Amino acid sequence: MDTHRSPILIDYAKCSPCQGLICVGVCPLSVFEPGADGKPEPMDAASCTQCGVCAHLCPTKAITVNTRQTSKRQTMVTP
Ligand code: SF4
Ligand code: SF4
Repeated sequence: MDTHRSPILIDYAKCSPCQGLICVGVCPLSVFEPGADGKPEPMDAASCTQCGVCAHLCPTKAITVNTRQTSKRQTMVTP
């Protein structure tokens, strides 16, 4: 079913693209590569750690990162 769902969504209508392709440059995993039209393409979405940096720094808020639903269970240790 959705075995390879990309965690990153780019709204290309909002992507100008910006000068220097900020998202391409800031991603620590080099997930994005400039596409033929000059806009970024998530070429390696499987490596995305969903850190959210690209979405945060995109000047036009064109990127949405689906954050993983981590059910962090905190165990209270009482003495
Ligand atoms: S969320 Fe983080 S790892 Fe994923 S594409 Fe954006 S900057 Fe890269
Ligand atoms: S940071 Fe935003 S506007 Fe700039 S290239 Fe990436 S998606 Fe487009």
